[in-house]
Amino acid sequence: MARMDTNSLLRRLPKTDELLKRSDVAELSASFPRPLVLDCLRDAVESVRARIRAGDEVDFDDDSIVAAAGELLIERMTPSLRRVINATGIIVHTNLGRSVLAPEAIAAAVDVAGHYSTLEYDVRTAERGSRHVHVESLLCRLTGAEAAMAVNNNAAAVLLGIAALAQGREAIVSRGQLVEIGGSFRIPDVMAQSGATMVEVGATNKTHLRDYEHAIGEKTGLLLKVHSSNFRVVGFTEEVTLAELVELGRRRGVPVYEDQGSGVLVDLKPYGLPDEPTVASSVAAGADLVSVSGDKLLGGPQAGILVGRAETIAKCKAHPLARALRLDKMTLAALEATLRLYLDPERAMERIPTLRMLTKRPEHVAVRARHMVDVIGEGCGDAYWVAAMPDTSRAGGGALPMADIPTTVVTVAPRTMSANELEARLRLGEPAIVARIKDDRVLIDPRTLSDGEEDLVIERLLAIAAEG
Ligand SMILES: *Cc1c(COP(=O)(O)O)cnc(C)c1O
Repeated sequence: MARMDTNSLLRRLPKTDELLKRSDVAELSASFPRPLVLDCLRDAVESVRARIRAGDEVDFDDDSIVAAAGELLIERMTPSLRRVINATGIIVHTNLGRSVLAPEAIAAAVDVAGHYSTLEYDVRTAERGSRHVHVESLLCRLTGAEAAMAVNNNAAAVLLGIAALAQGREAIVSRGQLVEIGGSFRIPDVMAQSGATMVEVGATNKTHLRDYEHAIGEKTGLLLKVHSSNFRVVGFTEEVTLAELVELGRRRGVPVYEDQGSGVLVDLKPYGLPDEPTVASSVAAGADLVSVSGDKLLGGPQAGILVGRAETIAKCKAHPLARALRLDKMTLAALEATLRLYLDPERAMERIPTLRMLTKRPEHVAVRARHMVDVIGEGCGDAYWVAAMPDTSRAGGGALPMADIPTTVVTVAPRTMSANELEARLRLGEPAIVARIKDDRVLIDPRTLSDGEEDLVIERLLAIAAEG
């Protein structure tokens, strides 16, 4: 009996050809690529067929199958890489794309993307130019370095820097600095890939200058200092300063390379943030090479920036890896425009979103949070209990690891669903709103919302409240 049912149900499944004759399917074909419409119709039919075969109770007709195909189409045509709203308060959020670009950087990238450009062409001489020139003089001016270049990201910069200076030789590094940054970036692994032999000195908590000194030998190619971006060694600790390493390097004829990571171009201390060395301070201390990320605290596109002595940068540019790690024109344009903003540090603070969010005064965030609380509270009926509460924003992205930035968050405690459910509904809408959960409440930190996003978050919360 059950078999009969199954067979008759299977016979009732529509043929794709028949579905294609329907006017609603013709409409789908007008707005979506036809091969994809066909795929989705077939997949919708197949999924019903599979459920019938599995013995599920399936209630279907042609309309429901076309509707399911329509949903599949929307799902498959939604860009995979797309905008989200970052309500987490984590400013350099690596999973959410790190830095939002300044309008100037976006415009520059769009302009070179849609047109031919001076990427490797000098209009004055009509000769072949170098793609390095677009950022080199700006970087030199902003950091005091003799020369500079930019590559794909800071991991690439470290790989290239070590390879150019110490391939086939030894690179000396403190045991306290063998860090892992993100999933697969570990100093010992990068060292191995760059072809240098790592020589570890000191202990996890303490490394002395004499440790480096004793390790220097005929094969030494490099003294490396790595910024412990995402952790701190506290208590009974000692680290050799960059200036001390530079003095030792000079004395023994060994170049000194500092991987600084976060890329601070202006002193952030006056804005209440922790004392983080600027790139210029490492150059001034005499480092032969310094590398930083373009999209952490610098606030530009993903890039790795190398600055230092002319002969050191020349070695990096000439290394075969340089070509493999080079930047594309859109990133170069965005980086150049971002760096240009730094020529006037006040303007950089206003125009570069990462810096603006980092330095936004707590009382201004509090005003925005209270405004959101008022509007949501008035509009949501008794769906939520909303309040403004003090909390902490973070720089994130392995930048300023211990910096607690005071903020005021909007806390939303739903009355008819769990905080987890509300968080998921915010996240599954378009654009996704990514929020935190704490103490059974959804937290919205206005610090990382850009202009206009505040209203989008309010609208979404009110829509969810109305749906129930
Ligand atoms: C973040 C960081 C890196 C890796 O930089 P990416 O731009 O993410 O490739 C390397 N070194 C340090 C010290 C860092 O902080």
